[in-house]
Amino acid sequence: MANNNCSKNDHILIIGGGTAGWLSAAILAKSLHSKHDDGVKVTLIESPDIPILGVGEGTWPNLRATLNRIGISETDFIRECDVTFKQGAEFINWAKTPEPNSEKNPNSSYYHPLSTVNHSSYNFNLAPYWLQQDKKTRLSYDRAVASQVRLCDQGIAPKQIVMPQYSAVQEYAYHLNANKFSAFLKRHCIEKLGVNFVSANVTSVLLDDDEFIKHVVTDHPSIDKINADFFIDCSGNKGLIIKETYNIPWHDISDIIFNDTALAVQVPYQDKDQAINTHTLATAQDAGWIWDIALQTRRGVGHVYSSKYTTEQKAKKQLIDYLGDDYNSELTIRKIKLNHGYHQKFWHKNSVAIGMSAGFIEPLEASAIFLFDAAANMLAAQFPRDKAQMTYAERKFNQQLTLRMERTVEFIKLHYCISDRRDSQYWIDNCNPVSIPTHLQERLSFWKSQPPTKYDFDNAWEPFNLDSYLYVLYGMGFDTDVSEVASKYTDVVKAEQLFTEIDKVSELMGKKLPKHRALIDKVIQYGFSQV
Ligand SMILES: Cc1cc2nc3c(=O)[nH]c(=O)nc-3n(C[C@H](O)[C@H](O)[C@H](O)COP(=O)(O)OP(=O)(O)OC[C@H]3O[C@@H](n4cnc5c(N)ncnc54)[C@H](O)[C@@H]3O)c2cc1C
Repeated sequence: MANNNCSKNDHILIIGGGTAGWLSAAILAKSLHSKHDDGVKVTLIESPDIPILGVGEGTWPNLRATLNRIGISETDFIRECDVTFKQGAEFINWAKTPEPNSEKNPNSSYYHPLSTVNHSSYNFNLAPYWLQQDKKTRLSYDRAVASQVRLCDQGIAPKQIVMPQYSAVQEYAYHLNANKFSAFLKRHCIEKLGVNFVSANVTSVLLDDDEFIKHVVTDHPSIDKINADFFIDCSGNKGLIIKETYNIPWHDISDIIFNDTALAVQVPYQDKDQAINTHTLATAQDAGWIWDIALQTRRGVGHVYSSKYTTEQKAKKQLIDYLGDDYNSELTIRKIKLNHGYHQKFWHKNSVAIGMSAGFIEPLEASAIFLFDAAANMLAAQFPRDKAQMTYAERKFNQQLTLRMERTVEFIKLHYCISDRRDSQYWIDNCNPVSIPTHLQERLSFWKSQPPTKYDFDNAWEPFNLDSYLYVLYGMGFDTDVSEVASKYTDVVKAEQLFTEIDKVSELMGKKLPKHRALIDKVIQYGFSQV
């Protein structure tokens, strides 16, 4: 496989066929017109021997836009990847004290829904008005500002079958089977987007005198080496280029995020008509948390924990106890080691790392697929056809991905460090300021006397925006004392009108939209309109 023009980036080689590899291949092949003669050729090489990780099952709404853009039928995707609709996440037992009026007493529980809060579209922050309401009688913050919360509570779908594919009444993402998703993307890339596929192991990476990659050597019987102009490392934990070839330093974050192990299990439904949750459940434990993701035919459940604070035996028992009657000894519990952190740069010379190879931050907010979808889209949008333009694109890419990683770490840490749980050393240490990034500490200190506003978020590429922070802060019972600045918030009548409107919309949507399982069954039977 030859490289045609040495001053142009005409051929991209992706190493690795997990979610990161195939999603990157699809985005790049579509954006760079691989099927056309003057487009950039994309080849993906995948080891036939090393399985993909296959556990990422929760996504963000950006995936909808990406799937639509790369030409995937939403109906086919739902039918073939065991997909369900995700409208957010519910955090259970993350705080000691439940909000008064939370409908889930005695456990503390709050939602981080995916829909933009109604007040955002009016450019009007309801948080200070909610903070001034009577603590004993007010609704919890999530219920007061987001109609989606009640849909999640009742297992109601975010749209109707008559709506066109990818359109929504309430913002949604997906829960999916990661193995099926990679296989589905692979077929789409090869059959529809013109991606070349090689099934072989890369055995070595060859550099030129300037340390740019010249080609990779493979163990394929007839393709001993593959030349390309640009290389993408999607080789997962192995980090074939970023780690093994370039040895780019690793930024360890285990002093901030303590969890280092996951136990994962797939639990088939006992009743095929069982209601399907339309949000991820994240239930805190004394040394970690348990995720629970509902697909069409099974749940994906797992315990993410810190081996410094608990034993595997205890973590396993907590997982089994959580599953209750749904557990049986024939289920396989898989142990996965987690290595938290990210490389100090992602683009180096003529290569970029995307996916697990670039870094890993625990799946509490299901941010991994979002991060590599965003990275692949950025690479595609700024891909320099002329090799002379690489330096600028490299700098921008590294800056933005580093910022996204840093802000993701901070947002994940937020869930732990403002908790009032003190029932185990794990929670005590998580709230110790030495484990909290300085930038997050500054924000939290400022938000003690006034709630966050959009001006706290100075970069459009921050993965977690104002709404996300408000949900977690006030879901966790963070105490913002607005008394000193109360004179700023004079639009009380408007705020009350909006609270009433949200309440009415919540009720109406609950009546108009179908149950989640009913919508999934209809999609499987009839499909969405593609218009
Ligand atoms: C417990 C857990 C839960 C998670 N939950 C979520 C979630 O809910 N949402 C989310 O967004 N993310 C989640 N993630 C993260 C997500 O699973 C990963 O980011 C994703 O699976 C990583 O995929 P990848 O493509 O980078 O790597 P992998 O899936 O590991 O793929 C690596 C690929 O590289 C290939 N390869 C390796 N070496 C070679 C070689 N020498 N030659 C050729 N090919 C090679 C392999 O064959 C494979 O195809 C979770 C992660 C964990 C651990």
